[in-house]
Amino acid sequence: MAKKHQVYINNVRIYCCNTCHSHLISQDNIISRAFQGRHGPAYFVDHIVNITIGAKEERMLMTGMHTVADISCTICQTKLGWKYLHAFESNQKYKENKCILERAKISKEVFWD
Ligand SMILES: [Zn+2]
Repeated sequence: MAKKHQVYINNVRIYCCNTCHSHLISQDNIISRAFQGRHGPAYFVDHIVNITIGAKEERMLMTGMHTVADISCTICQTKLGWKYLHAFESNQKYKENKCILERAKISKEVFWD
């Protein structure tokens, strides 16, 4: 298998994969910090780099039925959360094409220049 090259984010505050430290999001991508993942607190974000999107499935969540797909780190394959592909309830539509990132799976890194 070809080795994957990661994308680097040019931002002072970024969040990385806890396992391999690949860049995932910059602080500006976080829409809400008040979401719940499968393993505890999670971030709701609009864009992530270096992730692989898994098979889509319909999942019943606390806020109703959604079509989601698990997302994992492209580099180390750790599961990081999921992506909302479709929301069945109209008041949940804002989640479509956005992602949940489990806080336990990521770490914040601050770069000074
Ligand atoms: Zn990783």
